[in-house]
Amino acid sequence: MLLSVIGTGYLGATHAACLAAIGHEVVGVDVDPAKVARLASGSAPFHEPGLDALVRRGVDSGRLRFTTDSRMAAGADAHFLCVGTPQRAGSDAADLSALDAAVAGLAPHLERRCLVIGKSTVPVGTARRLAERLRTQCPAGDEVALAWNPEFLREGHAVEDSLRPDRLVFGVTDDESDLLLREIYAAALARGVPVVRTDLETAELAKVSANVMLAARVSLVNLLAEVCEAADADVEDLTSILGLDPRIGPRFLAPGIGYGGGCLPKDTRAFVARAHELGVDGPLALLREVDAVNVHQRARTVDLAVRLLGGSVRGRRVGVLGAAFKADSDDVRDSPALDVAARLLDLGADLRLHDPRAMANARRAVPALRTADSVEGACRDADLVLVLTDWAEFRGLDPVSLAGVVRRPVVLDGRLVLDAHKWGAAGWQVRALGRGAR
Ligand code: NAD
Repeated sequence: MLLSVIGTGYLGATHAACLAAIGHEVVGVDVDPAKVARLASGSAPFHEPGLDALVRRGVDSGRLRFTTDSRMAAGADAHFLCVGTPQRAGSDAADLSALDAAVAGLAPHLERRCLVIGKSTVPVGTARRLAERLRTQCPAGDEVALAWNPEFLREGHAVEDSLRPDRLVFGVTDDESDLLLREIYAAALARGVPVVRTDLETAELAKVSANVMLAARVSLVNLLAEVCEAADADVEDLTSILGLDPRIGPRFLAPGIGYGGGCLPKDTRAFVARAHELGVDGPLALLREVDAVNVHQRARTVDLAVRLLGGSVRGRRVGVLGAAFKADSDDVRDSPALDVAARLLDLGADLRLHDPRAMANARRAVPALRTADSVEGACRDADLVLVLTDWAEFRGLDPVSLAGVVRRPVVLDGRLVLDAHKWGAAGWQVRALGRGAR
């Protein structure tokens, strides 16, 4: 099938490459010429495990093309909308300007029967509005249908999640759209991936609802961690015990410096903003608190760092390990790690940061940041080391050799990735949110 993917960022580039990998002919359209050039040359413009090889294979096969010209999308059987929906400046609501622009750019080229499929995460009600715009603005008019097929991929596992999703949601208004989606995703359906067919509104809500539930879970765990710290209890043991309860389960139960990235924070805020518009107000205090608890972890981390340095970070050497919002990604959007590093810089720390993949993005976001090419470089002569992203590289660090590099062997484990006993035995003072001083 000939498919177009409008917007080739973290979501769209992965989706386009995976559609090509399962045999479709795909044209990816983006307004960013540098990104398009990079993709068209067969390489991914960001770090995502397995994506580079998939893009290369798709481009080499001729089934995967990239362009800035939305006319190239004309003639496709289906068009996936994958543009960004970030937080609007000065508001908690989603900024839908890129989505509106993408639809405005695509509509004049839709001259025959086709399906437009929204994948971006949007406030409920957006799909219905876009469907009406397509109906009035496309030359093919009623022949153009709209469906919503939210994407649940996780950065760091995006290729795997796209090729082997745990569920597919088809928000449709007719059988024909449902059938076309089933044809596009035939490979996943053949493997028995569960599909939920629903209306447009429920499909839109499916994605943001998943994200607010995950955000709430993380903030609840972090609240428990704060109580553990105050009561001198052990949050790791506590979450192990909670995880053994089959109603709770062990995943997404790690305490730390909080969630970040291009989805959970802005989706939680946009959900609240949209629910408020819809007149659902009182219960939203819960989600506002989820956000506040999350942001509070960053301040708590900085406070602990200041305390570990005896009351001031000014002029002190600080080594920060991690800038990405999570492991296996170079994404620093709303990254708690980078935020903590930036706050310590503002307080006058003499800081060096190392991240296996995200240093270029980190420097772009915080130009004053000094980076080091290695863990040792970041930690050399440090009075304090902070581990702020859960990279496997950091989990496996040798505390004995690193103790020989720093000035003071004091580490703040913001992700609970270090083996506290091993590090303690190597002479380190190990502190973490959720763990008392013992
Ligand atoms: P992104 O910023 O990485 O990518 C968005 C892309 O859209 C950019 O390359 C941008 O240049 C392009 N774009 C903007 N306006 C355009 C236009 N008019 N025409 C064509 N391209 C245009 O964002 P992302 O992380 O890929 O997220 C995209 C959407 O997917 C968001 O709604 C996000 O919430 C959702 N989502 C993201 C993830 C994720 O893990 N990143 C997962 C699921 C859903």
